[in-house]
Amino acid sequence: MSDDQDPWTIRPREWAEWNRPGQVSRVTMHEPVLPIWSCGACAGPWPCATRRQQLRAEFRGASVSLALYLGAQLVRASADLHWLPPGVLHRRFLGWVR
Ligand SMILES: [Zn+2]
Repeated sequence: MSDDQDPWTIRPREWAEWNRPGQVSRVTMHEPVLPIWSCGACAGPWPCATRRQQLRAEFRGASVSLALYLGAQLVRASADLHWLPPGVLHRRFLGWVR
């Protein structure tokens, strides 16, 4: 009986893994400030150099997940930053992902 798990109970670790598959979630100050998509910590264009480094670490071994995550952010950002040429946003969000 002790092996049974309440399916409605989501433990924090599982929740973190569901959000960022296979990785431990971490708190960062380098989150985007909307709708201008500047970094909340260093005010650079998001994802800033620090956040890119963090994302690489958080999604290590899961580059497809990272690309999907950044692709989703790119879609949101292109709606907010519609005056920017698409190529600029694409390079900014996905150009650094191998
Ligand atoms: Zn930053």
